[in-house]
Amino acid sequence: MDMAGICPRKSPQRKFYVMSPLSGKVQTVLGLMDPERLGRTMTHEHLTMTFECCYVPPAPGQEDNSSARIELKNVHWLQQNPYSHRENLLLCQEIEAVRDELMCFKKAGGGTIVENTTTGITRDLPALRQLAKDTGVNIVAGAGYYVDVTHSDETRKMTVEKLTDVMVNEVSHGADGTDIRCGVIGEIGTGWPITDSEKKVLRATAHAQAQLGCPVIIHPGRNPAAPGEIIRILQEAGGDISKTVMSHLDRTIFDHGELLEFAKLGSYLEYDLFGTELLDYPFNLGIDMPSDSQRVQTLAFLIKEGYEDRIVIAHDIHTKNRLTKYGGHGYSHILQNIVPKMLSRGISQKQVDKILIGNPKQWLTFK
Ligand SMILES: [Zn+2]
Repeated sequence: MDMAGICPRKSPQRKFYVMSPLSGKVQTVLGLMDPERLGRTMTHEHLTMTFECCYVPPAPGQEDNSSARIELKNVHWLQQNPYSHRENLLLCQEIEAVRDELMCFKKAGGGTIVENTTTGITRDLPALRQLAKDTGVNIVAGAGYYVDVTHSDETRKMTVEKLTDVMVNEVSHGADGTDIRCGVIGEIGTGWPITDSEKKVLRATAHAQAQLGCPVIIHPGRNPAAPGEIIRILQEAGGDISKTVMSHLDRTIFDHGELLEFAKLGSYLEYDLFGTELLDYPFNLGIDMPSDSQRVQTLAFLIKEGYEDRIVIAHDIHTKNRLTKYGGHGYSHILQNIVPKMLSRGISQKQVDKILIGNPKQWLTFK
């Protein structure tokens, strides 16, 4: 891997990329890599993070479950109420289990994980580098900031220019005081309505992308209008929508007409909650979280409509209960269970390979 110094030069006209040593490469936590070596890629996962920012108090009468030790008899309660158990939100405590799971992922034919943990939910780059070394799985780390509630006072005070510099630096030189470089910007967190601080971060993301020619990934708020509004803000600030992934569409846009309207804007369309099946989604009680079968149906619909070059998929594991150690589906669920289901529902092997290999490769390669 090429660890040579990376100094992307700023272009006076930001819409034009200047050739940098990153051009044509993917940047993992172990250095630059030939995109051909990525293999099957999960574009939205977390290997270590904290999610205390999103704790939801349990329903009346269920307080005991909320602090109970995680064991077989409460696994189902946890699957239905993952955000109402404080310890469940500390994925950072499970490095050993995650290492084992990455070995299983590799054995199941997996190649690369894009680790979307950004500032605000406890990014741990040295841990990611160690996991990559120990397992041989390629890990791409994320630059930037999560949703408003996690922004520090310091972040809120920063100008768009300052935020841009921070993100460019995280990709070009290293983040969190390390020399470990991020290979994507995101997941950039936004809520609904999008706050002023989140808008600043979005504009800075577009400016940094215009300088670096890098991949970007966005976490939209839980409203069908949110993804389109984000694309508008990024576009106005000079972002490259064709190199941008819109995450979590499975819990955001349900109407097929609205989905096709959004798809026309040209971003990657990410279905990344595979494995999540719960009745009440506490962050938006108004929606019915789809099942995995329904997710596959939506993929088949988008393919039929001509969007097979734009789809990427993942599990977005961010709580303990989703690890196999705690009775969850783990990082290999898509490769082991979803791919056969896709094939049985008329999606061809060539289309599966595009979704798991071709599209992530194209997205992750710097311009
Ligand atoms: Zn995520």
